[in-house]
Amino acid sequence: MGRRPGHAQGTGAGGLSAPDDPKHRPATRLVEAGRRKEWTGSVVNPPVWRASTHLYEDSADLAKGRPNEDGHFYYGRRGSPTQWSLAEALTELEPGAEGTVLYPSGVAAIAGALLAVLKSGDVLLMTDNAYEPSRVMAKSLLADLGVEVRFFDPLDREGFPAAFCERTAAVLLESPGSLTMEVCDIPALAAIAREKGAVSLLDNTWASPLGFAALGHGCDISIMSLTKHVGGHSDLMMGSAAAAGSHYRKLRIKAQALGTVVSPDDAALALRGLRTMGVRLDRSTATALRLAEWLAGRDEVAHVLCPMLPGAPGHELWRRDFTGGCGLFSFVLKGRDAAARARFVDALDLFGIGYSWGGFESLVVPFDAGRVRTASAWPPAGWGVEDRLGIRLSIGLEAAEDLMGDLDKAFAAMDAA
Ligand SMILES: *Cc1c(COP(=O)(O)O)cnc(C)c1O
Repeated sequence: MGRRPGHAQGTGAGGLSAPDDPKHRPATRLVEAGRRKEWTGSVVNPPVWRASTHLYEDSADLAKGRPNEDGHFYYGRRGSPTQWSLAEALTELEPGAEGTVLYPSGVAAIAGALLAVLKSGDVLLMTDNAYEPSRVMAKSLLADLGVEVRFFDPLDREGFPAAFCERTAAVLLESPGSLTMEVCDIPALAAIAREKGAVSLLDNTWASPLGFAALGHGCDISIMSLTKHVGGHSDLMMGSAAAAGSHYRKLRIKAQALGTVVSPDDAALALRGLRTMGVRLDRSTATALRLAEWLAGRDEVAHVLCPMLPGAPGHELWRRDFTGGCGLFSFVLKGRDAAARARFVDALDLFGIGYSWGGFESLVVPFDAGRVRTASAWPPAGWGVEDRLGIRLSIGLEAAEDLMGDLDKAFAAMDAA
């Protein structure tokens, strides 16, 4: 199969091994990454290594112990080749990362990463458009541990330095923000965080490393819900956090202290999803862009919140910093009330109603962002106050024309009453 010689020797170079040949483009890495011969044997994919106990040769072997790195059999909680393969593949996709820790969900990844860098007495700055469970986590789990959370307006770059104090230890960024899709100036905000001595963490679920190189743009820790694009089939929950050197060690040690482990069956599913993630993202991005353009021309729509769409909020920063998009975007109804929005949502046939996104099938959820904001306004200044009812779409792999027809029918049903 022509695997890299260093990888075929069973050297178990571990999680801090050099990434794949950096000359390979992301599409090639998606295919090759993590497929060490010693993990796959003579088949294409690493088998599902179900294991709690790992066996040692003899007493001397047991006494010798094992390095605390992926790639070394020790005990099931440190994973086996199926999980190591996934972690290594994700590391190879994230430029600048030296290791990746896997978590049983995206929320577990965010919690695990925050717990790794925060201690009692610290202040965490969190973007005001963060995924709502991140907000809830900060105000419950972290508050109980003596960590104070302060929310900031991600679009107020000038005001950002003033948000820091002596105790600020970490900043949680997310871009585009959940539901409302604002793109912030991540390189600038991450640079300010570094200057102030705070660790910057980015929830990079929307773009994935294919669309945004988090560490390359100055973030310290890149977090993903693998439930979305990597799983890609709405049948799996998992999360990851990737980082360089000392940050990776902290993530790993904290995850082990918490007993964090993902099942090898789920890791195999995630690896399967990962191999086709590039083509799925290309296709859903292209369809989403067509639908976003079409929605922008509808009388029923006040704003389309899709960073890939020229002229939409955040498009300039997206074009400057990102190398890709995905099928997730939102729009805001012009006027209308909640009952009209419910008629629209209920009239859709091809869009399932439900949380999550990144699957092969399209989804819709209504949202009201103003409900949770504390540091930034929703609707934003300059928008009509009556234009506030949001709808988020996750575009799957269906034909764009069919999705458009479904949306068209739903608009008619919305105003038929
Ligand atoms: C879904 C999501 C998460 C959480 O991931 P789970 O795997 O569902 O726990 C975190 N961040 C963002 C931006 C998400 O959309």
